[in-house]
Amino acid sequence: MTRLKDALDHIAEAVIKQRDLLDRLDSIGDSDHGTNMARGFTAAMEELERLNDLSSTKVVFETVGTAFAESIGGASGPLYATAFLRAAAACDENTTFNVENVEKLLNAAVEGVKRRGHSDAGEKTMLDVLIPVHKCFTPEEAKDKTLYQCIEAAVKAAKDGLDYTKTIPAKKGRASYIGERSIGHEDPGAMSSLIMVRELFNFLK
Ligand code: ADP
Ligand code: MG
Ligand code: MG
Repeated sequence: MTRLKDALDHIAEAVIKQRDLLDRLDSIGDSDHGTNMARGFTAAMEELERLNDLSSTKVVFETVGTAFAESIGGASGPLYATAFLRAAAACDENTTFNVENVEKLLNAAVEGVKRRGHSDAGEKTMLDVLIPVHKCFTPEEAKDKTLYQCIEAAVKAAKDGLDYTKTIPAKKGRASYIGERSIGHEDPGAMSSLIMVRELFNFLK
């Protein structure tokens, strides 16, 4: 699926461009989230360039997940790796992108992050964006919507999720060390998740 590779290229470029912003937001942690994400996406795109056959959604997601796992030392590496690998496991060679399949992939990704991170909504993490994003593709929310309209709704949900992280203390990850003092700051992982969803939308626009 060449179009998936093109979408990932666009998303990777956008995340890498926001490296300094993400590092700055991670001043509530250890100021390396942008550096970590840039490293992960650079490795992932190099691996995808090496793939001769881009026709399998499963293989593309597996390649990205493995590159994240192998290139990032921080918490976000194994967590985003798990998200991509679980999404890969939830699809087969011919999975196409429709509302139902995207719901399945996102559900697998979110459940994977929750389990791997021992985390859930309301702890000031990427999950405060990823959980509401997934919800936009569920049958109740997606009723009468096209895939494109669901992605548009997901961008709005992601922005709201990011805003919400500003209002709560970090309960997981390095930012939890400063506890209440993290209130008033956006979570860097929530921001990187928002950027990915927003840039998928911008790519399709
Ligand atoms: P590190 O904290 O190891 O330096 P990063 O800075 O790259 O790693 O990533 C930090 C981000 O990872 C946080 O902003 C948060 O969104 C996410 N995160 C950290 N711990 C968890 C967890 N247990 N569950 C879900 N997300 C987490
Ligand atoms: Mg960090
Ligand atoms: Mg770190």
